[in-house]
Amino acid sequence: MGASEFDNVGFGSLVFNRTAMKKYLSSEAYKAWDNCVQQRQVLKNETASEIAEAMKTWALEHGATHYSHWFQPLTGVTAEKHEGFMIPTGDDGFKLEFTSKELIKGEPDASSFPSGGLRSTFEARGYSAWDPTSYAFIKDRTLYIPTVFFSYSGEALDKKTPLLRSCDELNKQALRVLRLLGDKKTKSVTANVGAEQEYFLIRKELFNRRTDLRLCGRTILGAPSPKGQELDDHYYGAIKPEVSKFMKDLNRALWKLGICSKTEHNEVAPAQFEMAPFFTTANRANDENQLTMEIMRRVADDHNLVCLLHEKPFAGTNGSGKHVNWSLSTDGGENLFSPGDSPASNRRFLLMLAAFIKGVDEYSELLRCSTAYAGNDMRLGGLEAPPVIISVFTGQYLENLIDSIINNSSFEGSEGSLMEAGKAVLLRIPKDLTDRNRTSALAYTGNKFEFRMPGASQSIASPVTYLNVIMARELKEVADALECSENPEEDLNALIRKMLKEHRRIVFNGNGYDGHWAEEAKKRGLKNLSNTAETLPEYLSEKNIKLLTEGGIYTVTEMQGRDEVHKQKYCSVVLIEAKTMIKMLHEIFTSVALFSSEISKASDMVLNSAILSAIDRESKELLDNTKKLEGLVEKASEYEDNSSLMVFCSNEIYPQMEKCRKSADALEKLTKSDFWPFPDYTELLFSV
Ligand code: ADP
Ligand code: MG
Repeated sequence: MGASEFDNVGFGSLVFNRTAMKKYLSSEAYKAWDNCVQQRQVLKNETASEIAEAMKTWALEHGATHYSHWFQPLTGVTAEKHEGFMIPTGDDGFKLEFTSKELIKGEPDASSFPSGGLRSTFEARGYSAWDPTSYAFIKDRTLYIPTVFFSYSGEALDKKTPLLRSCDELNKQALRVLRLLGDKKTKSVTANVGAEQEYFLIRKELFNRRTDLRLCGRTILGAPSPKGQELDDHYYGAIKPEVSKFMKDLNRALWKLGICSKTEHNEVAPAQFEMAPFFTTANRANDENQLTMEIMRRVADDHNLVCLLHEKPFAGTNGSGKHVNWSLSTDGGENLFSPGDSPASNRRFLLMLAAFIKGVDEYSELLRCSTAYAGNDMRLGGLEAPPVIISVFTGQYLENLIDSIINNSSFEGSEGSLMEAGKAVLLRIPKDLTDRNRTSALAYTGNKFEFRMPGASQSIASPVTYLNVIMARELKEVADALECSENPEEDLNALIRKMLKEHRRIVFNGNGYDGHWAEEAKKRGLKNLSNTAETLPEYLSEKNIKLLTEGGIYTVTEMQGRDEVHKQKYCSVVLIEAKTMIKMLHEIFTSVALFSSEISKASDMVLNSAILSAIDRESKELLDNTKKLEGLVEKASEYEDNSSLMVFCSNEIYPQMEKCRKSADALEKLTKSDFWPFPDYTELLFSV
């Protein structure tokens, strides 16, 4: 037999996963850990000690010299501080030590992580605590231990703690409902997530010559390339050899970390690609996605490429999203959103569907908040990105079913219909319940929902936390109502009908990219929160505070802290971009002046004066706009609170940047490219 590509991939070889634990732990310790994960039982100290010892042995055997608590502060990226296993023994020697104390608790200096003022009112100290529900792994000779991160007084300072809290709450409420439906065997309900990751690859040498890409991750200036994505020839196109090599190395690196990178293809924009992993539990999917983003950047670097994860690296071409596929499953492996063979009589499915629809309608602002930040503002609502208006795509089949329930009419759905694929297709392909017209923010895709709004660079923790807690809330209301009902059977049917009827407006199966949708949505009373500055004020609404505090996700103080962090981050991003633009504009002025003087030397007077007068006109405009932008940036420093600064950034600075860009891009077209100080869109988009 020949060698297979998979012979030496070492899938999961760098992960302290079940296989490794079974090998390195006593069966009692393994069982205790398993109970902790499956049934949320607290781990005893002795067990933690044994796990620490086993982890150390395993890590040393795999070449680790250091360990690190790995956490996810509110920056949205991960943080780590490495500690060596080595300690001196006093006789000129050393020993390697890693105890349960070090496994369980760390004390990274927390003072420089964003907390929205939480730590100034309490202690500056931050603690990290081992999260046994995700796997430790090895990277760069270091054992990484997934942890949660919190303050001295117990406030969450990270994105992971709320996510874990939401998984618990969802499990609790879903179990109550399953019991009411007569399910006695299910022990736990888990949220599963598969996060599709879109990205761009560009040549490192070009990246390094663009200040905007280096400092902001996106191009702030740049005239469009004569060819963009109009021909749709990149989407699913043949993958070029260089990119294929990158993908091969990426897959291998991810597989070693136990991340099942499964799908890879060219995306719509030139130089844009996608990787989809096989889904896993929400918690691990969140860790895996953080790792994936990091590994993508590194592997690209090894190939002299740069991986851009920004939501909109290039104006006028598709942006990059991160579709969060989300579903619920029982420990027995049943998918709660699976319609089964006859959805119309599957009450569990109908209840889950109704609860989801109601939840999204009631808390659409919160879901919108979880995707509101500067980078995503550039992407949402344009070029294949979902609109900012939240709606649920169910597909026509389910819409008909929903309507028949609401109207108490008979349902005519032909279940299990077959696709008409023409004579050329010899197989009879069963028809999916939904087609692929997924222009909605949330799309039902057969047994899961796809949340299409999150952006490529963001942590999936908040979007998933909110999906979890919203679903938990709806299931709680159902359980509260039915647990005291005298006639639960009948009441359940009435409840499903009521939920669907009252929240029917959020279901939309038309084309969300079409301009008419905004009008239609307005008639339906759906919110149209067009950008971050309009969205973030919704976060601390009474309804959201109630949902998140009663669901045990945050305290009010934690929410206030987060609100501050979100606003501050937005303002910082806008101001960094504005300053970067100003710097680049000054470089442009110098270059254009050189070009003009070169032209005036040339002999063709007619052409000279035509070009020079066009340059002159645009330059004046640009100088004027640049001055205004500089004035606005100056004025921004006078603001003392982030709420009003955010509005100022959104309403004054961004529009002014747009004006600057317009004249700068016009000048780019007029200037000979060897005089232009930066690589242009054609080079950037078509060199990989
Ligand atoms: P599509 O092409 O319809 O978007 P895929 O089957 O390619 O769907 O899946 C896209 C992503 O959804 C993958 O990451 C996949 O692992 C994930 N996924 C599939 N089934 C589930 C599920 N039940 N729960 C969560 N994610 C899922
Ligand atoms: Mg998808």
